[in-house]
Amino acid sequence: MCIVTTLNQGLRNGGGIGDILRAPSSQEPLFAARVVYDMLFFFIVIIIVLNLIFGVIIDTFADLRSEKQQKELILKNTCFICGLNRSAFDNKTVSFEEHIKCEHNMWHYLYFIVLVKVKDPTEFTGPESYVYAMVKDRNLDWFPRLRAMSLAADEGEGEQIELRSLQNQLENTQLVVKALSQQLSQLRDQVFFFLSLLLSIYDYLISLCDNYACLSQW
Ligand SMILES: [Zn+2]
Repeated sequence: MCIVTTLNQGLRNGGGIGDILRAPSSQEPLFAARVVYDMLFFFIVIIIVLNLIFGVIIDTFADLRSEKQQKELILKNTCFICGLNRSAFDNKTVSFEEHIKCEHNMWHYLYFIVLVKVKDPTEFTGPESYVYAMVKDRNLDWFPRLRAMSLAADEGEGEQIELRSLQNQLENTQLVVKALSQQLSQLRDQVFFFLSLLLSIYDYLISLCDNYACLSQW
């Protein structure tokens, strides 16, 4: 009973158990022990233990709040259907808002699932029977994971532009190579001409020397 009373009265008073107990006279023999007891109760129970409990509660609330914020952030910036991030639609023909409103509207997907569930299977179109089989197997492969048709089209266009520029570069390089080969053949012709000229000069000089030698013998 003593422990229960101590906790009950001590925790509900700001200064601890000292507030509810009889104030001892300084003449009493146990005055010092009583002061130490009151102070220890105040420090250990009121300051440390209660603040630990409050800290745990506040921490838990902070964790819950940050988790909620994280979830809201993901819901706001990620497509519910394909999981693509808002940044994936930067500098693209379609914006993130248009994407989640028109291309990957989650309610349209839900309506489609409801449609294949209530429609007569004999009247299914090709895509409807495909999705019906997938939904029946609880298979989610028919959802576009991390891809969107508009982004794929953009990428295709980008690739075509890149291919065209590469082709242009190749054509330019071929022209340059052709011009260089022409210059090279001209240079070769000139070198041959020069060499033949040198050879004829050399022959002429040799014949001159021979003539000179003959004349000197005479
Ligand atoms: Zn999407």
